Amino acid sequence: MLEVYQFCLIFTERDFMAKVKIEPGCIGCGACQFFAPDVFEVDNVSKVKENADLEKNSEQIKKAVNACPVGVIKYEE
Ligand code: SF4
Repeated sequence: MLEVYQFCLIFTERDFMAKVKIEPGCIGCGACQFFAPDVFEVDNVSKVKENADLEKNSEQIKKAVNACPVGVIKYEE
């Protein structure tokens, strides 16, 4: 029973892992980095930092999504 529970837990974590993506069209304004500096790094255009903790920074990412003037940040919780 414990093994089944462990399998479900692993499956659930993988299935619902948060994802953030920047689509083409970033104008490099820096707003995302301002609101979520642990997640975004802007150098001409924005990119998501390696090993960024998306769950921990969920609220900051949502602020960045709302602040992006061209709507190119896509976030799935
Ligand atoms: S807020 Fe949007 S446009 Fe501005 S740097 Fe970030 S992704 Fe690019």
